[in-house]
Amino acid sequence: MDEFHRDTWVEIDLDAIYDNVANLRRFLPEGTQIMAVVKANAYGHGDAQVAATALEAGASRLAVAFLDEALALRKKGIDAPILVLGASRPEDVALAAEHRIALTVFRSDWLEKASSLYNGSTPIHFHLKMDTGMGRLGVKDEEETKRIAALIDRHPPFVLEGVYTHFATADEVNTDYFSYQYARFLHMLDWLPSRPSLVHCANSAAALRFSDRAFNMVRFGISMYGLAPSPDIKPLLPYELKEAFSLHSRLVHVKKLQPGEKVSYGATYTAQTEEWIGTIPIGYADGWLRRLQHFHVLVGGRRAPIVGRICMDQCMIRLPEPLPVGTKVTLIGRQGDEVISIDDVARHLDTINYEVPCTIGYRVPRIFF
Ligand code: PLP
Repeated sequence: MDEFHRDTWVEIDLDAIYDNVANLRRFLPEGTQIMAVVKANAYGHGDAQVAATALEAGASRLAVAFLDEALALRKKGIDAPILVLGASRPEDVALAAEHRIALTVFRSDWLEKASSLYNGSTPIHFHLKMDTGMGRLGVKDEEETKRIAALIDRHPPFVLEGVYTHFATADEVNTDYFSYQYARFLHMLDWLPSRPSLVHCANSAAALRFSDRAFNMVRFGISMYGLAPSPDIKPLLPYELKEAFSLHSRLVHVKKLQPGEKVSYGATYTAQTEEWIGTIPIGYADGWLRRLQHFHVLVGGRRAPIVGRICMDQCMIRLPEPLPVGTKVTLIGRQGDEVISIDDVARHLDTINYEVPCTIGYRVPRIFF
């Protein structure tokens, strides 16, 4: 959104993203590439801006979930290699080849269909996904792996550029299942006649905790945005991460309630004394979910509770004192000594930090600095 006319916005600190990638670059063994994971509009942060910053800071490749996301990055002038991590359609192989977008492959019948549909000569790069225990996408048996490798080998525009797997528990303190998956990956790699040029398995948690087991590339997502992969392993991380995302609004209306007066749908909140109530223009349609009703925001450097039900486009807060219309309200971020982190919001919602910035909708403009 280039121009907006609304008093609610997200600020993205691109310097924080730069530092998170540059610090990883310094931390990883030499020769380990960084693939910046910018799917879902860069976890809600802004795909092209994050991609450009990550590449400048030392990432060499990008990853997205869907072909459409890769095409959107190409349209925005991002030229770096991109891998689609999710499933694509065999019909779209020509489109991927045309835009130099690598695809994930994990089924021989898919490849057979793709090879019958694609008669171009532009090379198309594939990364073979191996399911070592995530149970989502990936080959599981030797025969199918060999079939896929042979099909790629037989169809010259097809190139097996990479092979990878994904961990289910790299963010947990107990490493038993991680070790099982890692050993399984080592075993499965031997099913290939030769290793492709890129072998990768590490998400943020594995990259930061087990960098000696990263092969030659890591897929860096959540911690590029300055967030710990889980609260449990936060104390185990090798360096401090810098949170990039903050969310702000402004008071658009301020009024005094008398004792007994009510606020919002269902009239669930009743003023106990004379109270100053402010209205801010953000609601559940923006991803500021109804379950945040008893959470708080920052205004005038102090915490202010959200009162009454959160509406689709607005919500109300109890002000510590009468404050002028236009006063800045911080929903995620810092005001003076007070901070509301994405982890705080996630805890209140009983979810993971990943979900919070992804949920703040595209109706909320992102400002980059
Ligand atoms: N690789 C794959 C296949 C993923 O699905 C994801 C994210 O969900 C990542 C890497 C990045 O993981 P993280 O954000 O934990 O670094």
